[in-house]
Amino acid sequence: MTPGSLILGTPYPDAIAGVHVGFLLAIGVLGLAIYARYRDEPSMPWLSLSALLSLIWLLAWRGQIPGPARLLPHAMPLSGALFSAAVLRYGCLSLDSRNRLPDLDRGLRGLNGLLLLAAGAALLLPPAWSLPLLAPLVVLTALGLVVAAWLRLRQGHWVAIGLLSGALLLLAVLLPNGLLWIGYPLPGTPAFWMNVFQVGSGLALLSFSLGTIASLHRLSEGRVSELKLALDGQRVALNKASIDDVTRLPDRKLFRELLRKRVQDAHELQQRLAIVSISLSSYRTLRHGIDGNAADSGLSEIALRLRQSVGSGDLLTRMGSDGFIWITQIHAGGELLDLQGRCLGLRRDIGAPLANAGGVMVSCDIGVSIYPDHGGDIDLLLRRSDEALYRTEQAGLGEVMVFRPELQQQSHQHLRLAKQLRQALIRNELVLHYQPLVGLENGELRGAEALIRWPRDGVMIPPGEFIPVAESSGLIVQLGEWVMQQACRQIADWQSRGLDLPYVAVNVSAHQFRHPEFIRHVEKALIAFPLSRDRLMLEITENIVLDDIDRTSALLQQLLLRGVSAAVDDFGVGYSSLNYLRKLPVQAIKIDRSFLQGIPEEQEAMSVMSTIITLGHDLGLRVVAEGIETVEQQMFLSRKGVNCGQGWLFSKAMAAPDFEAWMIKNQQRLGRAQALVG
Ligand code: C2E
Ligand code: MG
Ligand code: MG
Repeated sequence: MTPGSLILGTPYPDAIAGVHVGFLLAIGVLGLAIYARYRDEPSMPWLSLSALLSLIWLLAWRGQIPGPARLLPHAMPLSGALFSAAVLRYGCLSLDSRNRLPDLDRGLRGLNGLLLLAAGAALLLPPAWSLPLLAPLVVLTALGLVVAAWLRLRQGHWVAIGLLSGALLLLAVLLPNGLLWIGYPLPGTPAFWMNVFQVGSGLALLSFSLGTIASLHRLSEGRVSELKLALDGQRVALNKASIDDVTRLPDRKLFRELLRKRVQDAHELQQRLAIVSISLSSYRTLRHGIDGNAADSGLSEIALRLRQSVGSGDLLTRMGSDGFIWITQIHAGGELLDLQGRCLGLRRDIGAPLANAGGVMVSCDIGVSIYPDHGGDIDLLLRRSDEALYRTEQAGLGEVMVFRPELQQQSHQHLRLAKQLRQALIRNELVLHYQPLVGLENGELRGAEALIRWPRDGVMIPPGEFIPVAESSGLIVQLGEWVMQQACRQIADWQSRGLDLPYVAVNVSAHQFRHPEFIRHVEKALIAFPLSRDRLMLEITENIVLDDIDRTSALLQQLLLRGVSAAVDDFGVGYSSLNYLRKLPVQAIKIDRSFLQGIPEEQEAMSVMSTIITLGHDLGLRVVAEGIETVEQQMFLSRKGVNCGQGWLFSKAMAAPDFEAWMIKNQQRLGRAQALVG
């Protein structure tokens, strides 16, 4: 009796048995190869195991290798179940369901576990029970995969899928009874369960193949295209060492080879290329808060999204610890606008919550240089896209910036300034000035804002000129700590001398606030000097808040527990969601001085200002106006119920001794006024 006649109950030609063996071998080898190449594919070992089991079974049956006769009846259903389980995982992966269809993925994954469990249990049961136990699960699996394949089809991979379905149908017709382990007569198994298992296995195999083709199609668009250039022409050795472990992208060395070739091609074909540097600026800070593995998983998730978003023929690599470089062609006619749109698309992809890193959301900055407009040498192009990136990071606007020659000039100046600022900090040359905050109805002193100044060569450099330099050079943390210490020292000094100042507001920059040691820096200053903690207030901008509302809230809450209050500075310029104000533990808003422009002449300006004031009051916040320069502005604000403000009408920011003198004079003036009223 031939094995075929045993399997199918019909004559089973050796040629077809040979096809089976070849097919199983191919699946096993393919599975192992994919696994070795892309470790993020967990189903591949299962797939290979299942294929090898089937193979052993076939060979044992043919008498070519000795096999324990008792286990033989189990081998086929078991192999089928393992195969379905592997297929299931693979199907999920190839459909990107992990990222895009999380519910479906979760469901299929549950089913997958169940199937493996059942396969284990089936081993312990009499052979006749195997199929009734496994068949319904296999059918469910198959249905899940069909749904997944259908969704994939809707994503537009129908040509590949159509071709494959045709090929499979052909295979099904060529092989009597179609598919591999179908029809094996397990002793005592009812025909009904045989049929169910048969249909389920058939569907599973079909969907698996759909998934494979869809995946291969995807690979050919994404990963493979990154490596394609290396394969044809350059013949760069593509060993594992050339691939970054975390992101599975070509490493810097390989990337440079590929880029060189790409630029050469672009030169010959007269194409324009965009060199896009992407920096996950906020991820750098987040790394401090999550463990290393989660941080890497998050990064690989982002890399996966990027691989899926970039076009075929594009290059992608990891840059530094938290960045990427993407090379893409600028299509004639599409020009920069199109490129900007694509960059913004990437930003959106990056910004979605990272399932593998606790759902955190990451923002990014993007800088672009263009071949041949900004140079023909790859180092120059990379440097220039980096310069543009550096600019966006500095501006903190989360924009896409394209390199301009002026940037270079500016960046030299920046470097010089950063060096001088570092020295000034070391030599303690910076000073704090204080601008009074007064009650608008009577001019009574309500507080002060500490504003930093840099006296250099007899000129006071305003913070607008050096704070951005401090931020981009990392000096801001040190500078912020210095300001905090200095302000607390001053508050304690005034307090000890009985100079009655309700509070001093200190500005905090975004980088400083996000620094993991920020709370400790504040605490340190509070401990170092004897002051009442409610005399310190922090001013944070909307940027900080909107970057990560929950984290900001938590930090402010911690500060509040330590007695330190906070205000939202430059309120209104972010013109983004105001909803955040509801959950933020702040005590005041400081309306940006731009809103005072046109008051009291322009009706619209007054309406906008009134709306903001009402909003602040309705939320129970103290409303402070900045930049009051005229009596009319003061009167308008006072009428609208704003009872505190600052501006040149009252005083500019002053050095501490001048501020003290102003305080005393102001008190005397108020005293006289009260005496007059009395
Ligand atoms: P800010 O916190 O909004 O400070 C108010 C700015 O408005 C100050 O500019 C102040 O001098 C100016 N100002 C006040 N009243 C008037 C007015 O009536 N008319 C006009 N035209 N301007 C007025 P300054 O001192 O140049 O500071 C600019 C910005 O630099 C500040 O804006 C703040 O964001 C930042 N800054 C200042 N000191 C520090 C600091 O110690 N640390 C940090 N991180 N940032 C600081
Ligand atoms: Mg301020
Ligand atoms: Mg302000």
